[in-house]
Amino acid sequence: MQRFSLVIHGGAGTILKEDMTPDLEEAYQKGLNEALDAGYAVLEEGGSSVNAVKAAVVILEDNVLFNAGKGSVFTKKGVQEMDAAIMDGHTLDAGSIAGVRNVRNPIELATEVLRNSNHVFLSGKGANDFAIKQGVKLEPDDFFFSQFRYDQWKALRDSDNYSLDHTHQRLEELMRDKKFGTVGAVACDVDGHIAAATSTGGMTNKKYGRIGDTPIIGSGTYANNATCAISCTGHGEIFIRAVAAYDVSCLMEYKGMSLQQAMQTVVDKLRRMEGEGGMIGVDAAGNTAMVINCAGMYRAMRSSNGEHFVGIYGTE
Ligand code: ASP
Repeated sequence: MQRFSLVIHGGAGTILKEDMTPDLEEAYQKGLNEALDAGYAVLEEGGSSVNAVKAAVVILEDNVLFNAGKGSVFTKKGVQEMDAAIMDGHTLDAGSIAGVRNVRNPIELATEVLRNSNHVFLSGKGANDFAIKQGVKLEPDDFFFSQFRYDQWKALRDSDNYSLDHTHQRLEELMRDKKFGTVGAVACDVDGHIAAATSTGGMTNKKYGRIGDTPIIGSGTYANNATCAISCTGHGEIFIRAVAAYDVSCLMEYKGMSLQQAMQTVVDKLRRMEGEGGMIGVDAAGNTAMVINCAGMYRAMRSSNGEHFVGIYGTE
């Protein structure tokens, strides 16, 4: 019987046990489990991988702990601008949105682009207009307010530090726990079709309409039944330049590497480019992998062969 699997992440970076309280750790684990359960339930009922990754990401977007949807970070202007993408590995259809505001679940909007538009990638006001046309749920600004994100931003807003300037001590300290917070999911369904979804608020104090790797098909998100479905998290600028997700697919397609080997190769390459972060992946046989080049990644997986894992630190 075809094995079905789901893997999710809630961001990677310098996530250390000594920086975490037991309550916070429990809250993260609970959030990951809820998202895993929602996505896995879709697969168990014979639903599609696209619906499974969407269901998991919606739960993570609604959880203020993660930097996507409700928990999105503040831009330089003190608002939230969100990016998201979803890709169907069976049809190679994809939907992406960038720089949208007030959309409760950006992954829902990306799915509308995939299913109900003639386009792949919508941005800014046009994407927001499309959200209204499609009846995607909007929320007022205060829905996206969270004190800890506000405090992160307040300490940065009068500076020009909007990117991961590794030479800047203050920024380093500030972003130590929360360097990356994007969420994502990849799944293989009972028909052997795979899909990937990723959603993010981007980076604290970002400006000039900055867009990261998340909504760029082939960089932060990619799915192809012939190879793999990948969702990335990390320093977006580097993942864009490395065309990270598609590079994994290429290594599998052209070099015959396994999912794990291909992901490890690309994540090692990202480290050499000083691109901190990681990725989750699945192939059409239901094999899964989670690979990072940093201290930790909020992550979880479940598979119909009985595997079940929730982790935060290290590469265990
Ligand atoms: N990759 C995301 C970005 O650069 C950030 C993250 O993964 O947290 O926007």
